[in-house]
Amino acid sequence: MPIHEKSLIRPENLREQENLVIEGMDVSGHWSTFIESRAVTDYNEALQEEIAALPGGENIHRCWQCGSCTNACTVNAVNPEFNPRYWIYLIRLGMEDELLRDKDIIWQCVSCNKCTYACPRDVVPEGVMKATAHWLELKGHTPKSPSMLFDEVFAGQVIKTGRIEDGLVLRDFFKRTGQPLNQPWLVAMVLGLVKRFPLAYLIKLGIATIRPDRTRGWGRARDAINEYAEEVEAQNRKALGLGAKGAK
Ligand code: SF4
Ligand code: SF4
Repeated sequence: MPIHEKSLIRPENLREQENLVIEGMDVSGHWSTFIESRAVTDYNEALQEEIAALPGGENIHRCWQCGSCTNACTVNAVNPEFNPRYWIYLIRLGMEDELLRDKDIIWQCVSCNKCTYACPRDVVPEGVMKATAHWLELKGHTPKSPSMLFDEVFAGQVIKTGRIEDGLVLRDFFKRTGQPLNQPWLVAMVLGLVKRFPLAYLIKLGIATIRPDRTRGWGRARDAINEYAEEVEAQNRKALGLGAKGAK
């Protein structure tokens, strides 16, 4: 019988006999493959609750492991190791160490939501992926991912000025991620703009990137958003049993 999802079994747990004959039948090599049993002793019994406490993870308990999310997933199509169904399974079982083995690819979710539309149980796997990436970061298992840094830069600018200047977002994102500004695609885009738009418009665009406009009377909205964001952050940290941000 073939082993389904063999890629999920760690290579060190797969065993094959190079030369094996049973009752006259040669079952050498992959014909004699078996999976070594192992004992898992490091469960985190609160793992599902921790993920469910973060925005997006609320419906994780509804999953019945049909696999439609992974089947529909954009990233899984190019990287079979990106497997939302499997990670939801690990979280529900509390297998934290097993989940951490994939910590460097979980954040690669592109938020396309194809999984969300495919899910028959309204789990919202995209939200679960987001909550899991957030959990990894809050627990200190991973540095902030590029997508998180982008979200921070984007939200930071909206909160500060009440507006969005695309050029400024790109500039700050490249700065935060240590990337040079002279990306070939960006240079091509700027050259395209220079050819197509009037000079006055381009000058306005350039000034907005250096000194962005602000929405008039934005101060009170900014304070309210900051207060709300701090409350949510404190709630998330409390749900994970973490101290206040910056506390030792
Ligand atoms: S939202 Fe993420 S997990 Fe869902 S299909 Fe898209 S890439 Fe895959
Ligand atoms: S599609 Fe929904 S129910 Fe099915 S495995 Fe994915 S999250 Fe679970």
